[in-house]
Amino acid sequence: MSQERLLELWRPLHDLRMTRAVLEWDQETMMPPGGAAARARALATLAGEVHARLVDDALHEAALRARDAAEEGSVEHAQALVALRDVERARRVPARLARELAEATSAGLVSWQAARKESDFARFAPDLERIVRLKEEEAQAVADGGRPYDALLDEYEPGTREADLVPLFERIRAELSPRIRAVAESGVVVDESPAQGQFPEAHQRALGLAASRAIGFDHDAGRLDLAAHPFCTSFSPRDVRITWRFQEDDFRPALYGILHESGHGLYEQGLPLEWEGQPLGEAAGLGIHESQSRLWENAVGRSRGFLRWLAVPWREAFGAPMPDVEELWPALHTCRPSLIRVEADESTYDLHVLVRFELERRLFSGELATADLPAAWNGAYEEVLGLRPANDAEGVLQDIHWAMGAFGYFPTYTLGNLMAAQLFAAAGAELGDLEAAFAAGEFAPLREWLREKVHRHGRRWRSAELVERASGRPLTPDDHLARLAEQVETVYGVTVGGATG
Ligand code: ZN
Repeated sequence: MSQERLLELWRPLHDLRMTRAVLEWDQETMMPPGGAAARARALATLAGEVHARLVDDALHEAALRARDAAEEGSVEHAQALVALRDVERARRVPARLARELAEATSAGLVSWQAARKESDFARFAPDLERIVRLKEEEAQAVADGGRPYDALLDEYEPGTREADLVPLFERIRAELSPRIRAVAESGVVVDESPAQGQFPEAHQRALGLAASRAIGFDHDAGRLDLAAHPFCTSFSPRDVRITWRFQEDDFRPALYGILHESGHGLYEQGLPLEWEGQPLGEAAGLGIHESQSRLWENAVGRSRGFLRWLAVPWREAFGAPMPDVEELWPALHTCRPSLIRVEADESTYDLHVLVRFELERRLFSGELATADLPAAWNGAYEEVLGLRPANDAEGVLQDIHWAMGAFGYFPTYTLGNLMAAQLFAAAGAELGDLEAAFAAGEFAPLREWLREKVHRHGRRWRSAELVERASGRPLTPDDHLARLAEQVETVYGVTVGGATG
């Protein structure tokens, strides 16, 4: 009975969130520029409505009753705990603070866009300062005596703590930083011309769709549309939207972007239908979500087996033979430091995340003032990646996250990389020769393994627990770092760092 009351109150909350997601998807894919003001208003109204329902006493009471009535360890108990977690987190934030944060981030997004265009941090600085101050206040309220930065991390990947991330990032840095220096000194330059040419939009779409369908993304329960920044959003496991963008002279951004978003989409389509609209019927966290996209994009999509399979759809899409797999492979595994995170290769990506993680920690410990961010950013890039941004647009202003108030989000990208490698290694150990399966177009065994180990559990277990149950080991950077070491050794003949024996 008490469980029913909780689900009855949760359903409209879910429907409102879903409606908001539909409007956001439309905003990024279809909406004409003239719609911006009306859409912003509608989204703000919906956000207010969602918040009001989430903090409503009736829902809180229903969740408490459901928890007390359910047997510990049961699904009903898990439903109630997950609901309570969301409700209590929202209830700790005073209405005044929630409103101020919404205002500050909407102003911040506008000034960030203008500042990035003119490469002038000063235009964004006052809004960012206000956002950081309000996020500090929010973090203190939510942390309830715990560490404020942990409260921020917890929003994106429940259970993540700064103290656990620090040694992970230390290891990543100790291994990757010397390696990229050694790669630069090796003088080896990868020939990327096999990935370049003239690839018309319609042909690239055809190739992306073929790959997306092959790995099992169900296009009767999803869509692929163009957007400025690729993303995945879900309205139901039976209606998952993914987006893509393309570059005419290089097939990589479109194909690997579509594989990435299809990986996110497979997770959403694999969530249990019987939990749709219920507290457990969502992804466990953003880190594990990212693991699903990275796994299909990198571990599968850049493998020799996958490339062997790709030759046929390639010929069908482009009407020409695909370059030789051995020529293509190095162009998919470069190690070249760059300034822009979203363009970074696998071997340098985590260092971009590390810079942001360290700056966020310093901001929220009071060690770093917002005004000093650009200098700190540039110094960190020089130290970690060996490159110094020439201006703020290619430095501290490149990401939208801080303008949205999304502090604690970046680490989920690296957590996703680690989880992807660990899950992929575990799947390989159980399923046998995956490369041979991919070459034969057999992606279902891996997909079903992920459904079984990750997707079908929704929010029943935390991400770290899902990974540990699936792989038999706690989360470790070992598999990810081994993968990167092997790539660099193969492509550049460099073995520095990663001498793990
Ligand atoms: Zn992603």
